[in-house]
Amino acid sequence: MSSSLVTSINTRPKCHCGTDSVCRTSRSEENPGRRFWGCGNYDRDSCKVCHFFEWVDPDVLVGANVVLQRLERKIEDQSKEIKLLKKFVLFLICVELIKLLLY
Ligand SMILES: [Zn+2]
Repeated sequence: MSSSLVTSINTRPKCHCGTDSVCRTSRSEENPGRRFWGCGNYDRDSCKVCHFFEWVDPDVLVGANVVLQRLERKIEDQSKEIKLLKKFVLFLICVELIKLLLY
């Protein structure tokens, strides 16, 4: 990973409450898996939660993550296709074997 990422994690910003913010992972549809800084009181005292919000990763990294996710999906699709083709080859071998046994 790049040094800028390490720096951004080390420079944990303070939230509006004055406590250290906490790194969380977004589960929204637009930004799945993207990390952000949120209020440090979120887990400690839900009454005192402020609405502090700041992305951890710069946009460039997010772009790279989108490409990465697309590639991962492609690999997954191709793995499924390979599995299906293997089953088909096995099926064809079985058909040939049956033919050999019958004739
Ligand atoms: Zn706060």
